[in-house]
Amino acid sequence: MQVLLVHLRMTGKFISVGLDDPLPAYPHIIFHLDNDRRLVFSDMRQFGRLRLLSSKALKELAQIKALAPEPLLEEFTPEYFFAILKKSRRSLKQLLLDQTKILGLGNIYASEALFLARISPFKSADTLSRKRGLLLHEAIRNVLHEAIEAGSTLKIDLEDRDGSYFGSDERFWRVYEREGEPCVNCGTKIRRAVQGGRSTYFCPSCQKT
Ligand SMILES: [Zn+2]
Repeated sequence: MQVLLVHLRMTGKFISVGLDDPLPAYPHIIFHLDNDRRLVFSDMRQFGRLRLLSSKALKELAQIKALAPEPLLEEFTPEYFFAILKKSRRSLKQLLLDQTKILGLGNIYASEALFLARISPFKSADTLSRKRGLLLHEAIRNVLHEAIEAGSTLKIDLEDRDGSYFGSDERFWRVYEREGEPCVNCGTKIRRAVQGGRSTYFCPSCQKT
């Protein structure tokens, strides 16, 4: 079986259009689908990469082998997650963003999962108790399920990825980009800090330790 390996990089995206619809900007590759639609790969900055290879060759690619399990797959077990935590002295937030440990958790999901589990993003990963580690494992999966249900992942991929997932009036996230707003649990003002060059949003009261 042949597979198409895609790395979107900065501005690459897929857009689905009908046969008679106008093409989007920067239509570099056009796939003609069985259902009379066209899937257009558009990439303003042209950093994206597409590669056709056999599924066997895919499994042997070093970049693919280095990737950790995705949180919604069976192999992302509580035991796997807890073992990862115990081995790291990095802050939990930074560990959650390490794609060689957990795959596909971005800045937003990491902040939201820590908030849901009521755990400080600054806590050293190896100091988390087993009980709280399991809570975080569950929170990660819940946040992703929630996002998929809300259609946000789809919108981010297909549309503009500028962060305005649901328009300016309706925001989905509990802490992300809510600095200065009251916490939905306790009313304390949400704070923003910078960790490893990325913004972290948290409730200083619910996520004390
Ligand atoms: Zn709170």
